[in-house]
Amino acid sequence: MAMHHRLVILGSGPAGLTAALYAARANLRPVVFEGIQPGGQLTITTEVENYPGFPQGVLGPELMELFRAQALRFGAETHFKNVTRVELRSRPVRLWLDDEEHTADALIIATGASARLLGLASEMAYMGYGVSACATCDGFFYRGLEVVVIGGGDTAVEEATFLTKFATKVTIIHRRDALRASKIMQEKAAKNTRIAFLWDSVVEEILGKSENGKKLVTGVRVKNVKTGSTSDVKTDGVFIGIGHQPNTELFAGQLEMDPVGYLLTKGRGTATNIPGVFAAGDVADSVYRQAITAAGSGCQAAIDAERWLEGHD
Ligand code: NAP
Repeated sequence: MAMHHRLVILGSGPAGLTAALYAARANLRPVVFEGIQPGGQLTITTEVENYPGFPQGVLGPELMELFRAQALRFGAETHFKNVTRVELRSRPVRLWLDDEEHTADALIIATGASARLLGLASEMAYMGYGVSACATCDGFFYRGLEVVVIGGGDTAVEEATFLTKFATKVTIIHRRDALRASKIMQEKAAKNTRIAFLWDSVVEEILGKSENGKKLVTGVRVKNVKTGSTSDVKTDGVFIGIGHQPNTELFAGQLEMDPVGYLLTKGRGTATNIPGVFAAGDVADSVYRQAITAAGSGCQAAIDAERWLEGHD
């Protein structure tokens, strides 16, 4: 027997939990399946200084606990569970958590995007302690220091350019000898005297140490893919800029997506191509990808879902 809900929300980052808060306050009794990374991408960052309302900053995981507590306070139900299959064209929509089936009158998808990572153990060990996948979030901490950015696309070059506001030197480490980034971004980077390039190079390990109980990045071990030689490059921070992947595999063939896999929404709202199914946050945003913009679109999705449900009772 499937369990039926009025509104299900997939994902528990700023978009999912804001949608849950608004939907709970609208008496929709939303059920949130939190997904494989409860709390979303902010749980792998440390200090968040650009979320309004926290003049002294707040730790990413702590901020997401506050989001969750606020949604729970108004009756949202959250489960540390992951949806493994969906059938969105049926009415109500059908969702499976392995063998457990749920149905919902309306669905908000807020499964986010994941920064692509290199896949090194040391990268995870220093994530939030010198390794970051978001210059807008963490660049400020590198004032007067030196950093490296890994990647050769628009993300890497844009992040590197942004980081020169703070860091004295930004080295872009790219695995080939030519950038993939757009010409205009390349020209901007070439003119920036704080940006240097390390071509044909891959990072094999992130080096660091522990000082007064705190982990610090001290460098990267780099291999030149043409010569095979390895060297250590001193750095205070490592920004991974090799792209993002929206978490949308589950919806392939059912929801309209752009070529990268970001969900497409209609007009200014959060409606997808399937009535009653809405998308909020990074899963449908390849441009801004900020906690505050995700939270804003979570609010929009809850309001859109509420209005849609009212019209389909
Ligand atoms: P991207 O264009 O796919 O570039 C990813 C870069 O990372 C490539 O240079 C790639 O190297 C490198 N890379 C991928 N996997 C790697 C690995 N495992 N190790 C080392 N390097 C790796 O991704 P993106 O830069 O995020 O851009 C995605 C889309 O968003 C693009 O269409 C871009 O134009 C757009 N975007 C636009 C702006 C803007 O206009 N302001 C800003 C950001 C992104 P190779 O080159 O060798 O493949």
